[in-house]
Amino acid sequence: MNYISTRNKSLGISSAEAIKKGLSDDGGLFVPSSFPSLSSSEIESLVNLEYIERAKYVLKKFLTDYTDEEIEKCVNSAYGNSKFGEGDVVSLHKLSDNVSILELWHGPTCAFKDVALQILPHFLTEAMRKTGESKEIVILVATSGDTGKAALEGFKDVDGTRIAVFYPNDGVSDIQKLQMVTQSGKNVFVSSINGNFDDAQTGVKTIFTDDNAKKTLFENGFTLSSANSINWGRLVPQIVYYVSAYCDLLKNREISMGDKINVCVPTGNFGNILAAYYAKKMGVPIAKLICASNRNDVLTDFIKTGEYNKNREFYTTISPSMDILISSNLERLLFDISGCDDELVKSLMNKLSESGKYVLNDDMKAKISELFYGGCCDDTETKAQIADTFKKYGYTIDTHTAVAVNVYEKYVSETGDKTKTVIASTASPFKFSDSVLTAIGENIDGKDDFELLEELCGKSNMPIPKSLKELKNKEQRFDGVCEKSDMLGEIKTFLNI
Ligand SMILES: *Cc1c(COP(=O)(O)O)cnc(C)c1O
Repeated sequence: MNYISTRNKSLGISSAEAIKKGLSDDGGLFVPSSFPSLSSSEIESLVNLEYIERAKYVLKKFLTDYTDEEIEKCVNSAYGNSKFGEGDVVSLHKLSDNVSILELWHGPTCAFKDVALQILPHFLTEAMRKTGESKEIVILVATSGDTGKAALEGFKDVDGTRIAVFYPNDGVSDIQKLQMVTQSGKNVFVSSINGNFDDAQTGVKTIFTDDNAKKTLFENGFTLSSANSINWGRLVPQIVYYVSAYCDLLKNREISMGDKINVCVPTGNFGNILAAYYAKKMGVPIAKLICASNRNDVLTDFIKTGEYNKNREFYTTISPSMDILISSNLERLLFDISGCDDELVKSLMNKLSESGKYVLNDDMKAKISELFYGGCCDDTETKAQIADTFKKYGYTIDTHTAVAVNVYEKYVSETGDKTKTVIASTASPFKFSDSVLTAIGENIDGKDDFELLEELCGKSNMPIPKSLKELKNKEQRFDGVCEKSDMLGEIKTFLNI
């Protein structure tokens, strides 16, 4: 199977090449030239397997230039050594008759991004070997909080790689910041920038398309790659857990083979929900994809009207990993539903970068509203949802998951649709203890982050994740702040060039 670019479908490169490059030279994103399918009997054959085995099966369908042994090695290294705690890599928590919560945050940084970022470095080092790469790979990351830490954990001390992470000064939680600035590893660099997440992401994208910068790096023995969710190696492991969730529902006899389910995802860069769409495209019986946003509701409007317009106020919310106005992975969806029309995608993306907006044609608009439901909620509703879910079900959710649960409930009251639904839970509540505790009515005045962890542990009856508890004794290694125009300079300093 070849990989093509959303802005040039005549390209044909291997998945190893696509993972190594991250972003195509034409500015487009890599996608498979054709989609593998998953039949009912294949899904049934996965039901009694563990996550690790399900992952191997699905990944082999996409990374066809990797040998079976290579994929097995990558999967075993990423998921096999209890990096995801005692249980399975992900787990389903039954909330009510119709709703199961897909807990994706059992990994080392307590967010769903671990599922992809623990395995990406292994895909990448295999890719380097397979393509005869002699340069050292520099991973550049713009983060709204969780990606940065998850990428740092995944790449720290991986031979042949360096990693530089930029996060917005004023848009990540205290714990998220602490997780990043205390990062260990000899190949890591962390800096905050004066700006928001979109500034950081635009800065990274600019460097990726700057020929001069790339040439300088190249001459000094480096080549750039991305661990943002624009990298195919980030996206493909996420498809697995939607397949796996369907298998678990079958296993628990919540559904019978072929029954459709809905999937609801708290969305920022559109990566996680796109993976659910891809699972549906492969053949997992998924009906509606419910796209949940916080007050930054650009996607809600887009799904309702067919117009994407990022010219609106940017809000900093209590679900910071979703504070995004440019959802990069949407480009892959546009490519798919336009029937792989690379020229059309290119023109829409040009409009987006020139005027901050574009409008879909009627055909694409109709497809989007058939596939997706879009909804949003503000911080007040998010907190009310945390309280409500806690009271009703005795189950504690983080702010991002709460956005999804809230939008799911809006969807149900609008449509009356009682289809069994899987809601993606993207972060541990302990990552956002202050917001969660306030939401359930606790007074947090004067308490530090670690006292809050203890308090939440008492309230929720959930254990404090080890990696968060340990932050207390870690030394701060990075305190730099840079202007968004100076990100390249920072990288050069880090690389000693
Ligand atoms: C990254 C993130 C999201 C958004 O996921 P996308 O793939 O960017 O849509 C949601 N919740 C949490 C906790 C995250 O870290």
